Amino acid sequence: MQDTHRHRGLRQKLINELRTKGITDESILSAFMEIPRHYFLDKAFSDWAYKDVAFPIDADQTISQPYTVAVQTTLLNVKKGDKILEIGTGSGYQACVLSYLGAKVYTIERQKKLFDKTSKFLQDIGFGQVRTLYGDGYLGTPRFAPFDKILLTAAATEIPQQLIDQLKPGGIMVAPLGSGDIQQMKRIIKNTDDTIREENFGNYRFVPFLKGIQE
Ligand code: SAH
Repeated sequence: MQDTHRHRGLRQKLINELRTKGITDESILSAFMEIPRHYFLDKAFSDWAYKDVAFPIDADQTISQPYTVAVQTTLLNVKKGDKILEIGTGSGYQACVLSYLGAKVYTIERQKKLFDKTSKFLQDIGFGQVRTLYGDGYLGTPRFAPFDKILLTAAATEIPQQLIDQLKPGGIMVAPLGSGDIQQMKRIIKNTDDTIREENFGNYRFVPFLKGIQE
């Protein structure tokens, strides 16, 4: 893996594009600058890493579009030291962005092949502090709960109560919700009395949140 001046230039362009689309948080933009996104794609597709599009990775999954990663990260309002659970590790890129921002990141993947590949890859690129878990994200991870924030990076038809239960009072969950092809980006805030408040942030398209694990 090699990060060149040309790649940095492509990242700078991508960041300018994200700015024009309304991403203003400088710490998030610097995460995009400092994390070589082309490492997360197959070498043959390096240049695709810096276009603002989703892209297929292994096992029929996708690395989310940069803009979507930036929006989800913005909605999470990440603070240094936040304990965050990500569901849907995929390529590991979103987990690295959260880790770069100083969060303590746990990420769950249901596909064994992707889990193995991404766990090793994160070690190799110096993000070994991201804790990768193999399992069904529907169940969250009671062992490491509660979390300040939970991020779902696959499309759910409803939010499993187990995940809400694993959120601290005052915690935030960001999740694409919807039953058809298109989902609504939701921010769910768990009030201190355990009731929840939901806000809507527009339409997105994610791969499905599937029950159970895949060996
Ligand atoms: N966050 C990823 C993008 C993930 S795509 C990135 O930055 O690259 C969605 C991922 O969610 C896929 O890898 C898919 O296998 C995983 N997934 C779907 N249902 C899941 C479940 N129940 N538990 C854990 N992971 C799940």
